[in-house]
Amino acid sequence: MNSIDTLTGFLDRMGCLHEAEALTADSVANGHPLAVIWLDLDRFNKINDSFGHLAGDEIIKELALRFRNRVSGRAELCRMGGDEFVFLVPKCDLSQAQQLAGELARTVEDPITIGNLTLRPTASIGIAIHNCEDSLSLLERADRAMIAAKRKGGNSIVCSGEEPIPGRLGITLAREELSIESLLHTALETGGLCLHYQPIIRANGEVEAVEALMRCSVNGENISPGKFIPVAEKTGLIIRIGEWCLLQGAMQARLLHDAGYHTKVAINVSRAQLVSPKFTQALHAALICSNVKPDLVELELTESLFMDVSDAVQQNLKSAIAAGVSLSIDDFGTGYSCLANLKDIPAKKLKLDRAFVTVLPEDRRALAVVRAMTQLGHELGMTIVAEGCERQEEINALLDVGVDAIQGFFYARPMAEESLLTWLKTRNKK
Ligand code: C2E
Ligand code: MG
Ligand code: MG
Repeated sequence: MNSIDTLTGFLDRMGCLHEAEALTADSVANGHPLAVIWLDLDRFNKINDSFGHLAGDEIIKELALRFRNRVSGRAELCRMGGDEFVFLVPKCDLSQAQQLAGELARTVEDPITIGNLTLRPTASIGIAIHNCEDSLSLLERADRAMIAAKRKGGNSIVCSGEEPIPGRLGITLAREELSIESLLHTALETGGLCLHYQPIIRANGEVEAVEALMRCSVNGENISPGKFIPVAEKTGLIIRIGEWCLLQGAMQARLLHDAGYHTKVAINVSRAQLVSPKFTQALHAALICSNVKPDLVELELTESLFMDVSDAVQQNLKSAIAAGVSLSIDDFGTGYSCLANLKDIPAKKLKLDRAFVTVLPEDRRALAVVRAMTQLGHELGMTIVAEGCERQEEINALLDVGVDAIQGFFYARPMAEESLLTWLKTRNKK
C-alpha cells in the first residue's frame, strides 16, 4: 500500500474483496440492496506520461480526498490500483447508485490545479447491483460495466447489463493475458508474426509512406494489435518483437526502393523499446542489415515519449536523428496534448488521431482544432497526416484546412507485403 492509501484510509484490493464478501453476506441475510460503483479515470496514463508521476500522485490524492468527503459514512472506499476506485454502497438500489455515480463524476470533473497546470479529468464509471451472486462476480460485473463505459469513449456511466466484455478482476484478466503471452511466444517461434503496410497518401495523390502494422496469427487465429501489443509491452517481449519489426520494416523500405519506389516505411516504436539502452544498437543493426538509406525509415512515437526527460530516451532520440531516420508523432491530439510542447519536439511529421477525423465535417469545433494544429505544425516545419479516414467528406474537410496527407481505409487497408507492390503498381498506372 502506498502513501496515498495510508493517507486517506482507503481499502486496498484484498481489503475490498473481504469487505465485499461481508457486505454481500449481509445483503443476502437482511435483504438490503447493495451497489458496487467502479470508477476509473480516463487517460490517466497520459497524465502520468505528460506531467510525470508526481503530478499523477497529486491528482489521485486530491481526488481521494474529494471522494472521501463526498461519500463518507455512505460507502466503503477502496483503491484498486493506480487510478481505479471502488465504492461499496450498502442499502443502495439502482437509482440511488446512479445518483451517487453522477455525484462522483462531477467530483472528478472539478478542475484540479497542480503547479501552473489546471486539469479537468473525467472518469468512466460502472455500476452493479447485488443479485445474490458471490462478491467476486459482483465486482466483476461492476468492472465490466466500467470497461463498457470506457469503450463508449469515457466520461460516462454504465449500469451492469450483459456486456460481452470480460472483466479484468483476478482470474479473467490474468488468464487472458497469460494465454496471449503464450500465443505470442508461439508466434515468435513459428513465424506467426508479420507486418502489414498501410499507405499514406499526399494531397497530390503521391504515396508519402507506408505504415508498418504488426499482425499476429497462431494456428489460423488472428490476434489484434490492440490485444497483443499491450501484453508484449507488459512482459517486455516488445523489445524482441520491436527489434524484429525495425529490421523487417527497414528491409521493406529497401525492397520498395529497389523496385523504384521512394516510399518511406514508418515503424511504430513503443515506450519500452525507447527506454531501453539497446534501442540505438537495434536501430543501427536494422539499418546496416537492410542496407537501406536511413531517410527511407521513419519512427512513429507517441507524443508523451518526446516529453520523456529520462536520459535513455533523450539519448535514443538523438541517436535516431543522428543515424538519419526521421521521427513522427503518432496519435497526436489524444490525452493531454500541449501545442506549446511541439516546438521542442524533433519530429518532422504530426499524425492527427482518428478521433478528430471521424467527427468531420459536421463538427466545426473539431475542424477548427485541426486547422489550428495544422497551421502550427506547418510553421514548425512539420508535415501533417490525418489518420483513420474512411469517407470522402472527411478527406475533403481535412485537405481544405491544409492537412498534407491522409491515411485510412478510404484509400487502403493495411495489406500484406505481397500485395503492397501490386497495389503501388496499380496506383501508379491510374
Ligand atoms: P497506430 O500506430 O495509430 O496505427 C493506426 C491504426 O489505425 C491501425 O490499427 C490501422 O489499421 C488503423 N486504421 C487505419 N486506417 C483506419 C480507418 O480508416 N479506420 C479505422 N477504424 N482504423 C484505421 P492496428 O493495425 O489495429 O494497430 C493498432 C495500434 O497497435 C497501432 O496504432 C499501434 O499503436 C499499435 N501497433 C501496431 N503495430 C505495431 C508495431 O509494430 N509496434 C508497436 N509498438 N505498436 C504497433
Ligand atoms: Mg502508428
Ligand atoms: Mg496512430
